[in-house]
Amino acid sequence: MNYHDTIAAISTPIGEGGIGIVRVSGPLSLGIADRLFQSSRPSKPSSFPSHTLHHGFIVDPERGEKADEVLLSVMRSPHSYTAEDIIEINGHGGLAPLLHILELVLKEGARLAEPGEFTKRAFLHGRIDLTQAEAVAEIIRAKGERGLKLAMHHLDGSLSRKIRDLQERLLSMLAEAEAATDFPEEDLAILSRAEMERKMGEIELELKRLAASFQEGRIFQEGIIAPIAGRANVGKSSLFNALLERERAIVTPYPGTTRDSLEEIISVQGLPFLLIDTAGMRGGGPHLEMAEKEGMERGRAWMEKADLLLLVIDGSAALAEGDRNLLWQARGRRSLLLMNKMDLGAKVSREEALRLLPGVPCMEISAKTGQGLQELKGAMFEAMEGGGLDMTQDLVITNLHHRSALREAGHAVARGKESVASGLSFEFVSLDLRESLDALGKITGETTSEDLLKEIFSRFCIGK
Ligand code: GDP
Repeated sequence: MNYHDTIAAISTPIGEGGIGIVRVSGPLSLGIADRLFQSSRPSKPSSFPSHTLHHGFIVDPERGEKADEVLLSVMRSPHSYTAEDIIEINGHGGLAPLLHILELVLKEGARLAEPGEFTKRAFLHGRIDLTQAEAVAEIIRAKGERGLKLAMHHLDGSLSRKIRDLQERLLSMLAEAEAATDFPEEDLAILSRAEMERKMGEIELELKRLAASFQEGRIFQEGIIAPIAGRANVGKSSLFNALLERERAIVTPYPGTTRDSLEEIISVQGLPFLLIDTAGMRGGGPHLEMAEKEGMERGRAWMEKADLLLLVIDGSAALAEGDRNLLWQARGRRSLLLMNKMDLGAKVSREEALRLLPGVPCMEISAKTGQGLQELKGAMFEAMEGGGLDMTQDLVITNLHHRSALREAGHAVARGKESVASGLSFEFVSLDLRESLDALGKITGETTSEDLLKEIFSRFCIGK
């Protein structure tokens, strides 16, 4: 792959905004700026010092027309995001002027950047490793403060340092194993088999722990998946809105009107919950049957994925069959039982509901008056915090491909450890150690295949 060409993209979100940025990276950047940028002063961008900002106009060189009034920043190689020469053109935020600027830049010899290509270049130039490149995407996607903190940890290289430490320890094991393979008669191996087994066991445990931190990492990255489930008209949308503290879902007094799942993130004492307003679990009128059926499927699918289920029943009416089914389905899943519409007076007794779903926290609420919602938020936090979510650990992985690489590395070390323990030839031990090292290299980018790199960077947005 040739990354010596020059790439360009609109790096700010598409739409109207206060400013918009066209970013250009590569060897042609300053030359392009020289031709397109008319400075308010007599100097040319190629003479601007690195990391400076300049006022002027972008001018179409063919027609001599001004395209936009801009601020131009110059960051020279290697001290830039990509480690290449970069110019950033800060124009007015509309799509039309930005597209016009981009078009002019492309005409001058740059090509359109692929998603994540700026970050990919930073990686290919060795300015950051793959864990840091991926952290950039995590920062953009992070939900809430804690997710951002974890991503920042990855960006500052703490994940790569940890991986490097594990790699070094594996390498020293490999050196031992190879010495013992090459000179079996001589007593070159400094470590005894028992000592090697112990050390490899330690590495295995750390790999496993790090792989297991994914569960927590995912939660901070995507939010705790908390579907609001219940049959039609029990007040799911009302609760969704009340928890969001603003109108989002459309609330109507007719059953079965919430046909699409709505999702919003709310922060409860720093924990991000992805609230999902699922469709009614039971059909409304005949014309709604199809849509409701789909909705029920969706509701069930969400139930499978849920970290915490918010089960709503109408506390002001007798329990219906739909409620019983719902509570039955929720058995064994982490949930909160919410008796809604308590402002209308209780018809369902707590005991009656809890008989169907024993041991689950049950609360009386009113989505309409807000009664019990503070307590509900407290219970949501408790359910997750008390549920073993470790908030103190700083090094947590948030990435599925890291987890699979760590697992792969862990399995290989475990196999090596077995070989050491059972007195097998050190040749086998070496093979397993190499496999483990290769798996870790996929995380830092040393052994990542071109396909995986492509996949990773394609998840970025254009312009990043
Ligand atoms: P969904 O089908 O479960 O999403 O139910 P909705 O949120 O659309 O609510 C159905 C009806 O119940 C609406 O008329 C709401 O105003 C009403 N409702 C929801 N929650 C409460 C509540 O706590 N108290 C009272 N009195 N009415 C409620």
